[in-house]
Amino acid sequence: MDIGSIKLAYDGLKSAKDIFSAFEDLKSESESIAKINEAVKQVGLAQETLFELREELFKLQESNNKLKKQLSEEKAWELKLSSYELVKTEGGAVVYKTTQGLEYYICPSCVVKKEIHPLQDGNVVSGRFDCPGCDKGFPITKFEQSAGLSVGVIRR
Ligand SMILES: [Zn+2]
Repeated sequence: MDIGSIKLAYDGLKSAKDIFSAFEDLKSESESIAKINEAVKQVGLAQETLFELREELFKLQESNNKLKKQLSEEKAWELKLSSYELVKTEGGAVVYKTTQGLEYYICPSCVVKKEIHPLQDGNVVSGRFDCPGCDKGFPITKFEQSAGLSVGVIRR
């Protein structure tokens, strides 16, 4: 049953109610009038119930559409995230890394927010990679003191 069939039933009951109401105007025998009044009352109740059901069905369909959309977005995200795996880098950071193609890392904090931000090599010397999404830094490569960049001590 859908909203269309409920509307058809509702309209049918409305027509029946109108017909019974017309009989009522005839003012025939009091027993007949009492029966017609009872029938009109019952049809009215059925009409109200159908109206409430139609409203409820409409709300359920809206909710169903919303959930379908959420599920579809969730599946799309899962598919996107399936191209990455959680790894521990040589620098000690736990981040996501691509499983194929161009090798890069993405920020685990932003993944929680359902955002993908490739970490950028911000400082070659420290091995720290930064996330452009949240500005957090991750130790990706092992920190190695480069002889060329260390501060030299002048010996006498
Ligand atoms: Zn981030």
